Amino acid sequence: MLTLIKNGNLYGPDPAGKKDLLIAGEKIVAVAEPGAIKIRGIPYDSQDASGKTILPGLIDPHVHLIGGGGEGGPSTRAPEIRIEDIVRSGVTTVIGCLGTDGITRHMTSLLAKARGLETEGITAFIFSGSYEIPPQTLTGSVRSDLVLIDKVIGAGEIAISDHRSSQPTFDEFARLAAECRVGGLLGGKAGILHLHLGDGVGRLDMVFRLIRETEIPPSQVIPTHVNRNRELFAEAVRFALAGGAFDLTAGEEPENHSLELGIEEAIRISRRRRVPLDRITVSSDSNGSLPVFDSKGNLVGLTIAGQKSLLRSLTGLLRRRAISVEEGARLFSTNAATLYQLPAKGRIKVGGDADLIFFDSRFELRDVMARGRWMMAEGKLLAKGTFNQDQEE
Ligand code: ZN
Repeated sequence: MLTLIKNGNLYGPDPAGKKDLLIAGEKIVAVAEPGAIKIRGIPYDSQDASGKTILPGLIDPHVHLIGGGGEGGPSTRAPEIRIEDIVRSGVTTVIGCLGTDGITRHMTSLLAKARGLETEGITAFIFSGSYEIPPQTLTGSVRSDLVLIDKVIGAGEIAISDHRSSQPTFDEFARLAAECRVGGLLGGKAGILHLHLGDGVGRLDMVFRLIRETEIPPSQVIPTHVNRNRELFAEAVRFALAGGAFDLTAGEEPENHSLELGIEEAIRISRRRRVPLDRITVSSDSNGSLPVFDSKGNLVGLTIAGQKSLLRSLTGLLRRRAISVEEGARLFSTNAATLYQLPAKGRIKVGGDADLIFFDSRFELRDVMARGRWMMAEGKLLAKGTFNQDQEE
C-alpha cells in the first residue's frame, strides 16, 4: 500500500517547510519537494495536507497501560487504557509501566497489553518492574528481561523518595541500576532506569550518589514527576546539567493536584538555567491514579490521569507560543526516541516508521497515522479497539 501525502508543512523535528511524503507499508520511503514524487503503473492513495502542520507522532514514555492505582483499596484500581484514547491524544508510541501495585498487576499482563496495542496499530514498549526493589520481572531479572524480551527497554517505574516506595537502600538501588546498565548493553537497548519520584526529602540523593560512587553514567537514569515540587525540580535541573535527563508529568491544576509546576514553567526555568532541551521529555502518567494524601499520610482524594493531558500540554504551549513547533516535536517525541534508543521513532525521515500527526492552523489535531495506517482522519477516529461497541467514537 502506497500513500502520497502532499504539501504538508513538515517539522521532523527540524523545520523542513512544505514537503511531500511517500509512505510504503509502515515506512516513510521518500521526503521530497512538492510535486517531485512521480508514481506510475501502481495504485496509490493521495492525500492533500495543504494548510496542515505535520509532526512525528507523540511518544508517551510513562503510561499505566493496564491501569495503575489501588492506593485506596481494590475498588480504586484504575482501568486499562484504550487504543481510542491513545490515538485521540496524538500518541503513536507508548512505554508502559505497572505502578504502586505489583501484587495484583503483573508483568505478563503488561506484556500482553503492549502486544495487543501493537496489533491495534500503535507501537508499545514496556518497563520491567513496579514501584519496589527487588523489581517484578518476566524472566527472573531485569538483566535477562532486557536481553530476552524485545518489548522490555528498561526498568520502571521504580519509586524512590516516596512513602509508597519499598524504601530501598543505596546498595539495592545501585545494583538495580547495574542490571539496567549491563542488560541494556547485552540487549542492544537503552536499558533506562525510569524512576518515580515522590515528595520525600531524599529527592534525587540516591541518583547523585549513583553517579558519584559508581561507574554508571547519568544517561542510564531518567527520573519522572520531577515537576512535583520546586525543590525536586531544582535537583532535576542539576542532574540534567550533569549529563542526565528528566521527564515532566503533564497535567495541571485542577486535574493533577500533585504537581506544583506546570510544563510551561518547568521549561521556562530549564531555559533560564541553560538545560539543553534535548534532556527533557514529557509524559502523561495516564491511567495511573492521582491520590491525594493529607499531611498525616491519609488518603483524602483520588482521580485518574488521562493521556489527553499530553496533547493539551503540547497544543497549549504552541498556542501561547511558549515553545516553537520544532521544540514541541522534540519535547513530545524526538527526545524520547533518542533517550530510549528507538531509532525508527520520533523523526520524519526516510526509513523511519510512518508515525505522523497533523495539526490545522489552530493546532487542533486533525489526523493521526501510526505505522502507515490512518488512525484518525479529518478529526474522525478510525482506530477501534477489539471490544469497542461504542458507535459514538
Ligand atoms: Zn509514578
